[in-house]
Amino acid sequence: MSQPEVHDPTVLAHARALIEHTSPAGAAQEVLNAVSRNEEWRGKRCLNLLAPEAPTSPTVRRLLSAEIGTRAAEGHIGRVNRWFAGTQYIDEVEALCVELLKKAFRCNYADHRLMGSMLGNMTVYHALTQPGDRVMTAPQPFGGHSSNRADGPAGTRGVEIFDIPFDPATLEVDLDKFEEEAQRIQPKLVVMGMSMTLFPLPVKEMADIIAPWGGQFIYDGAHQAGLIAGGQFQDPLREGAAILTGSAGKTFSGPQSGMILWNSPTLTEPITTAIFPVLAATHQVNRVAALAVAAAEMLEFGQVYMAQIVKNAQALGRALDERGIPVLAAERGYSRSHQVIANVRAFGGGLDVAHRLAAANLITNKNLIPGDTPADWDRPSGLRMGTIEITRLGLMEADMATIAEFIARVLVKGEDPATVQKDVEAFRLPLQDFYYNFDNGWPKP
Ligand SMILES: *Cc1c(COP(=O)(O)O)cnc(C)c1O
Repeated sequence: MSQPEVHDPTVLAHARALIEHTSPAGAAQEVLNAVSRNEEWRGKRCLNLLAPEAPTSPTVRRLLSAEIGTRAAEGHIGRVNRWFAGTQYIDEVEALCVELLKKAFRCNYADHRLMGSMLGNMTVYHALTQPGDRVMTAPQPFGGHSSNRADGPAGTRGVEIFDIPFDPATLEVDLDKFEEEAQRIQPKLVVMGMSMTLFPLPVKEMADIIAPWGGQFIYDGAHQAGLIAGGQFQDPLREGAAILTGSAGKTFSGPQSGMILWNSPTLTEPITTAIFPVLAATHQVNRVAALAVAAAEMLEFGQVYMAQIVKNAQALGRALDERGIPVLAAERGYSRSHQVIANVRAFGGGLDVAHRLAAANLITNKNLIPGDTPADWDRPSGLRMGTIEITRLGLMEADMATIAEFIARVLVKGEDPATVQKDVEAFRLPLQDFYYNFDNGWPKP
């Protein structure tokens, strides 16, 4: 076995050894064991502060293993549109999903068949660009995402990609420079997809700048989709964006997958025919059912749930800052989203810090921040945290000081992560219910 692998060869070798030393049934049991270990640790004993991760409600999680997920239903909704017979209940579920998504995002059109937001962005590039077209997108050090860059879906379409200019000090789009460069480049699309996202983006200003030559603004709201649906962030489709793509499993707190939303009828055919038959065939109807329920939860609980996520992010930022951990955008109140970004250069950088915190059951991720160069990719200076899961566990602003103290004990006071881990577990173990859903209702005061 000497084929090159991009995966860590020692982890693969361990799996091979397990398989070779047991029966197929034993191998299946090894899979179940690893799933259980994750559930016991990440699911019950950790404070999960990963910004792109959200816990689903019990009903949404249950639907992910529903019988309907074993049925084949490719194509568009409706008796004539489907290749297969017997899909009338599947049509019902999918139609409910589409209409609930439209209602949650206050828009005219939605599609539910995307396995990830990555494919939502691929849909945009497939539907609206030709090879050689010019597009402007956000570079990664300022929070951009690979899906809109040369190494992602945008790159596979063969478009020419230009950077949206950012001000390195404020992390904002440099609008003057953008206007100048956009006029020179005349991009067909401007795509803002921010994985590091603290404040609303100048959608209207940018959309107005590119309008004279028919340029379209695309808002890749993978992270912000829930905040948008919950009315706690800017509403891109109302500010001039032609299309909103989003992850269903980030702030939206549904099953991991994608959503795409738009208002103009002229976009409907290009978008929906890019999804089927190009990017999705059997699109996991169990996931669609789960997405529909998540959208209903958003309609009922979204405003309050998303507002609490933002309040908790601001409180966590302040509490970290007060304990000697520098946090970006302190002068602007730290955040208007679910994210908090710390500069942990002084504590060994993002990679080291994230692994030290994980040893204390505090799960975060390393992140590029301004000042880092592409060479710092593997060892950037930033640490990204998000408040989705801790909010859905029912925690409020005052609890953020407790969490910041755990983090500061590891980073600032240099305590052994194993000691802090015991206290994190004691804090987390009594918290096992997720709120803001029809199963458990509102958090208990
Ligand atoms: C996470 C992310 C994506 C990809 O979303 P998936 O649902 O994981 O496929 C796309 N764009 C941005 C900006 C992201 O942060």
